[in-house]
Order: sequence, then structure tokens, then C-alpha cells
Amino acid sequence: MTAQDMELEALFKEREIPYLTVFNKADLTGSSATNPSKFYISALTGEGIHELKERIGALAGQNKKEEKFVVTDLLKKGDFVVLVIPVDESAPKGRLILPQQLVMRELLDHHFAFISCQDTDLKETLCKLKEKPALIITDSQAFEKVSADTPEDIMLTSFSILMARYKGGLKQQIIGARALATLQDGDTVLISEGCTHHRQCKDIGTVKMPGWIEEYTGKTLNYRFTSGGEFPDDLTGVSLVVHCGGCMLNEAQMKSRVQTAVKQKVPIVNYGIAIACMHGILDRSLLIIPTEDKS
Ligand code: SF4
Repeated sequence: MTAQDMELEALFKEREIPYLTVFNKADLTGSSATNPSKFYISALTGEGIHELKERIGALAGQNKKEEKFVVTDLLKKGDFVVLVIPVDESAPKGRLILPQQLVMRELLDHHFAFISCQDTDLKETLCKLKEKPALIITDSQAFEKVSADTPEDIMLTSFSILMARYKGGLKQQIIGARALATLQDGDTVLISEGCTHHRQCKDIGTVKMPGWIEEYTGKTLNYRFTSGGEFPDDLTGVSLVVHCGGCMLNEAQMKSRVQTAVKQKVPIVNYGIAIACMHGILDRSLLIIPTEDKS
């Protein structure tokens, strides 16, 4: 075991990633599989290979956590939901994005009815309904208008907030949102996106978000941008990380980014939670979220 191997083991433990340490060339060393976390095999003779596969299979099973829900655990039988999905120039052509699909599929799986509309049609849609929806879920970019058009007695939240709760890190990101108000002139904000999509002229990460942050804080700030797999290990000099919803990142990847920031005491928030905060509707959009998930 080299120092790098041990460093990796420590990382797996810290990030709760199941792992096995496997030593090859058992035919030369004569070691056998006695230690439960260390395993000896021989690629030459095939010794231990079958058992290794069994152990990997067992680890995969062990990694299956209890079923998690995006939204249906927040609803009660018979509730119905309105989904607000603006279709503007930044919406992908001919399809819905992953968080929207995930929410719809889960609602269908659990026999909850929903209707969807664009933000510009919400008022009219609500007027047509015989009874009030239990919840309105909106795309974050339409938060301000949707909040204004949603009566106070209807619960409102966003796909981003639900996804942050689903993937873990909602509590840290609420703290991150509050840090927006503490930014000072000359501070650096890292805007990070989980994939390298085609950037448009009013791109949310490089154009809209910096504009909203400067309007909200009234400060002149510096920005760093990363996208795709690159997320800096060292956040020295960064005062706040503003991350996209991370729909293309899995739970472990998103958690790892949140942990990297938290460990270095750098606040982190996703786009949707930041937008809700900057529009003064974060508290309202968290009303539906159970206390243990948000504080
Ligand atoms: S990973 Fe981030 S940037 Fe890419 S589509 Fe999802 S939310 Fe947008």
C-alpha cells in the first residue's frame, strides 16, 4: 500500500463510498483472503476472482440505500400538483430536462395527478381548476413571476430545491444562499456547472447569474467559471460557490462538491436556491420541506 492508496482509502471512507482493497499476484506472495477489507487474487491463476465478483456484487447491494423520494413523500393521497415549466430560448428543443422528468415519473408512479403549464399561463390555469393544487413546483428562472401569481395559501417550491433535498446538501445550500448578502466588493464568486452544454447569448451561468448577483448585492464582484467534470479541489480566494442544479451529476458527485466547499468553509448554493433567496421567496419555497431536511 502506497501513501496514495491510503489517501484514496481515506477518501472512500470520508465520502461513504463502498470499497474493497484488492492485491493481485497472490500466486507469488502466497497471501490468502483472510482480512474482510483486503482481498488477495491472482489474475494469472484465477484464484479469488470468483469470490471477488461475489464481494463486488455484495457491495453494490449494500450501497442500495432505502428508497428516496423527490416529492411524493411531501404529498398526501389525493393531492394534485401544478408544474410550471417555461419554454424559452434556453429550454432544450423537443424535450424536458431531467428534474422535470424525474418529478413527473415519480408522481405517476405513486398515482398523483398533475398538470403542467408555462409561467405565462399559470394564472389562467389556476382559474380553470375546480380545487386548489396542494403544491406548485416551478422552474427557478420563473420563480418571481410564479410566486406573484400563486395565492399565499398554495404551497410553492422549485425543482432545484427538491433536487437539492433529493441529492443531499439542502441544509448547506440554504446557508450558502444566506451568504449572498455578505458578499463584498472585490470578492470572487465561483460559478460552476455540471456539464458543458452549448452556451447561449443569455446563458444563465455566465450572463444571467452574475447580473442577478450584482443587482442583489450592489457589489462589484469577480467571477470564475468551471463546467463539466472540473471542480477545483482548492477554493482559496473564493467567497461563494454558485452551482447549477447538477442534474447530470449523480448524488455522490454532487455531495462531493458540496463537501469540498463546506470543508474549506466556503458557502455553496445552487442556482435555484440562490434565485429564490435573491427574490425574497426562499422562506416561502421551503415551507413544504420538513424541518429536519432544512435546518
Ligand atoms: S448539469 Fe447543470 S448545467 Fe448541465 S443541464 Fe444539468 S443543471 Fe444544467
